[in-house]
Amino acid sequence: MPVDMHVHTTASDGEDTPELVVARAKRLGLEAVAITDHDTVEGIKPAIEAACLHEIEVIPGIELSAVCDDEELHILGYFIDIHCQRFLEQINLFRSFRVGRMEKMVKKLQALGLPLEMEQVSPGFGTGSIGRPHLAMAMVAAGAVTSIAEAFDKYIGTGGPAYVPRYKLPAIEALQLIRTAGGAPVLAHPALSNSSKLIPCLKQAGLAGLEAYHPAHSRELSEYYCRLAQEHGLFVTGGSDYHGEGHKEGVRLGMRTVPYTRIQEIRINASADPVRLLNNVY
Ligand code: AMP
Ligand code: ZN
Ligand code: FE
Ligand code: FE
Repeated sequence: MPVDMHVHTTASDGEDTPELVVARAKRLGLEAVAITDHDTVEGIKPAIEAACLHEIEVIPGIELSAVCDDEELHILGYFIDIHCQRFLEQINLFRSFRVGRMEKMVKKLQALGLPLEMEQVSPGFGTGSIGRPHLAMAMVAAGAVTSIAEAFDKYIGTGGPAYVPRYKLPAIEALQLIRTAGGAPVLAHPALSNSSKLIPCLKQAGLAGLEAYHPAHSRELSEYYCRLAQEHGLFVTGGSDYHGEGHKEGVRLGMRTVPYTRIQEIRINASADPVRLLNNVY
């Protein structure tokens, strides 16, 4: 039975609520779905509650943006303890950095003459993680641009006139943080950065897996990353990186999956990590 291991909800920059994601996943016949929002675990409790009704498993996850040797890497964490205090404190900090960064971007847009206030930019859900997609939506709503694409192309795309980079978390710290919360860290969509050369170092720092299957990977690239994973003793994972039906052309929930047996290996890896055992002892 298939599992989609990479899904965003309204807790970060996804368009579907956690409840809707779970209902859709069930309808697609998935055995489990991992909720992997950016810098937040807010979506996990409502997803698990919905999963009880729909008889499907929710894997508690997260996606952290990190940097290693000037490469931006995204690190997924699976089977994290969503009540781990040290972990929650850190991700709360990342989210507050995101708010500060958003204020700076809004100021830059104002200086460029756009009619926009910070109050108009809201994260989707609860204390969710605020990002550029929210800003783009607010710009459209304020009539400053006519589309999300125009917002990115003209103003807030990477390197654009109103772009402000996010806080750069060192990848090693991202791996340690996920391990601290008892999770198994996995390198997300490795083809979206120049990451192959970094894998040995990441593996040594606790990396457990490689996301070989992702909509941005061709069949050849997926095969390449499967081989690389095997070479380095890493698990192979996969997911759709779904953000909603209207988010990215051609990306659908469940379009990339792995068999449920893979999940069991990763679950064991997460709980058996020595860092977690140490944390439990002290
Ligand atoms: P942030 O984490 O705030 O830097 O926002 C990154 C998110 O913005 C990505 O996950 C994408 O969903 C979205 N994004 C980045 N570039 C574009 C683009 N050119 N057009 C539409 N969405 C984009
Ligand atoms: Zn996203
Ligand atoms: Fe990502
Ligand atoms: Fe993602």
